[in-house]
Amino acid sequence: MTNQKHFCSCRDTSCKLNPNNHDLGCDPCIQKNLKAGEVPSCFFHLIDEDISHLKEFTIDSFVRFYLNKKQ
Ligand code: SF4
Repeated sequence: MTNQKHFCSCRDTSCKLNPNNHDLGCDPCIQKNLKAGEVPSCFFHLIDEDISHLKEFTIDSFVRFYLNKKQ
């Protein structure tokens, strides 16, 4: 965390859209997610630290993930 220059909680630092790899903040990530009908990983991380088992990040899968964790 000490080398992190952005609050982003996404663990995929190899992703070219990760804020640690450019100076555009969240914009590229959000643009990609909106276009794909997906929710950025930081929202999933807000619910659970470990999201390594997740296979999709669609809006529907986010709602299911949230409701399952809330129970
Ligand atoms: S929107 Fe994307 S880039 Fe921004 S904090 Fe969330 S996961 Fe990271």
